[in-house]
Amino acid sequence: MKIYDIIIAGASTTGAWFAKKMAQQGHSVLVIEKQKPENVSREYDIFHMGKLEMERFDLHIPKEGDDDYGFEFTSGRSYSPYGNYSKFGNETVIGMHKHEFIMNMNREAEAAGAEIIFGAAFSDFIKDEKGKIIGAKYITDEGEKEAYAKLVADCTGIPSAARRKLPDNAYVENFALTPEDIFYVVLYYAKYEDEKINPLDHHGFFMQYKSWSAPSGDDHGAILGVGSNYSYDYAEEIFNRDWKKNVPWPKYTIEKVEKGMTPYHRTLYSFVEDGFIAMGDTAFLTKPTCGEGCTSSLYQAEIAVEVISKLLKEDKPLTKENMWSINKRYFKVQGKDFDALRPLLIGIVSFSYEEAEYLFKNDVIFSQKILGGMGQELDLGPKDIAKIVSGILAGVASGKLKMSNVKKVITGLMQSGEVGKLYDEYPDSPAGYFAWKAKADALWQKIGKVADTCDPEILRKIGM
Ligand SMILES: Cc1cc2nc3c(=O)[nH]c(=O)nc-3n(C[C@H](O)[C@H](O)[C@H](O)COP(=O)(O)OP(=O)(O)OC[C@H]3O[C@@H](n4cnc5c(N)ncnc54)[C@H](O)[C@@H]3O)c2cc1C
Repeated sequence: MKIYDIIIAGASTTGAWFAKKMAQQGHSVLVIEKQKPENVSREYDIFHMGKLEMERFDLHIPKEGDDDYGFEFTSGRSYSPYGNYSKFGNETVIGMHKHEFIMNMNREAEAAGAEIIFGAAFSDFIKDEKGKIIGAKYITDEGEKEAYAKLVADCTGIPSAARRKLPDNAYVENFALTPEDIFYVVLYYAKYEDEKINPLDHHGFFMQYKSWSAPSGDDHGAILGVGSNYSYDYAEEIFNRDWKKNVPWPKYTIEKVEKGMTPYHRTLYSFVEDGFIAMGDTAFLTKPTCGEGCTSSLYQAEIAVEVISKLLKEDKPLTKENMWSINKRYFKVQGKDFDALRPLLIGIVSFSYEEAEYLFKNDVIFSQKILGGMGQELDLGPKDIAKIVSGILAGVASGKLKMSNVKKVITGLMQSGEVGKLYDEYPDSPAGYFAWKAKADALWQKIGKVADTCDPEILRKIGM
């Protein structure tokens, strides 16, 4: 009976990248992907990644003429709610066709030695008599099959097909995401009526509506996107009721609509279990500002490759104790910053459109320094903090900012600090995990969710 080093469930960005890297290290890898090749990653067409991160993770960067190439542009502009002010970033971004890009990633994984079975849906773990995970069952057109491995990696995204099968007392949490924890994204593929309009001049992010405009790759084409918790209906209502009314934008016609979901939840507390790891969207590794997860998931995957490959080479078992450093290191590299941002975002999105417009105008919070550097580490010194405080005080004194909303931002800031401190105390081994988890649960309960800031009027209208 063949025992693989790793079985990976799911062959999208996370699974394909992990498969390639582990195979390159000389490990035997089996990937099982639910979809047939022609249907892999078809929910939406165009997606983006920052060029610097693509280089960092050794991803194939498509060129003009490649089947997955869309376009390249400089991104990072943030607009005020009424479109009067904007702050500029300068990240080079590559727009790509997702299905084609993922299939190219899978071909690279196969070239490195990974086996991939398409049309094979993970259905359950195989366990030994002591309950230890030793493989996976999967469903194909020919019925249920089995494969054995030292580790099963769940890269199945939101369905979390393997993670959800873990027992309730597992170190990796097994809950399903609710509509409050999901970002429902609607993409309108639009064509500008005036052919002189260059879509590369009309792109940017509108934080207060969780909306954005990006090129679509077609001449005069744009993708107008909107996302929200709860449902697609909620997101579309914000776009139609608020964005369209408040933002002056060149005239366009909508040619196609795509919809998809991305997790919007604090990171899993532990990724590892004996013989198991949760990765990518399954582990909620998406960026808290926008819900993108293709490159952010690779920070954890990179650590996982290093730790697991070393254990395999030293012939050590893939237990949670041996793999625990993946948790600890990930929170240090990225997880702590992502999760510490969440409470602050709850405060920031509580500002009304008028308040946010005022703050944009006066370069307070929605400032060039903060918004222009989004995606990079934020380095706010005492001068910056003093500017924020004086700007807020002036706003309250002039009646432009409501004290109740300012308090929400201050609460968010303080809670960000608490989250940071909590993750600094992340246990060094599984021994301290459940005591730490109890503290973390209590803190997140107190913080609440971005979904709590949703408009009750819209929720009533859509029947939620
Ligand atoms: C509309 C939209 C636009 C987005 N745009 C961007 C963007 O521009 N840039 C960005 O970085 N992120 C973007 N995201 C987020 C991004 O799509 C995800 O974060 C990313 O795809 C996560 O990759 P993943 O491999 O972890 O999971 P997924 O992409 O969800 O892949 C999971 C894979 O597992 C397979 N699978 C599911 N169940 C099973 C099973 N039982 N057995 C085997 N296989 C299974 C699925 O078929 C799929 O191939 C966007 C999301 C949406 C919804």
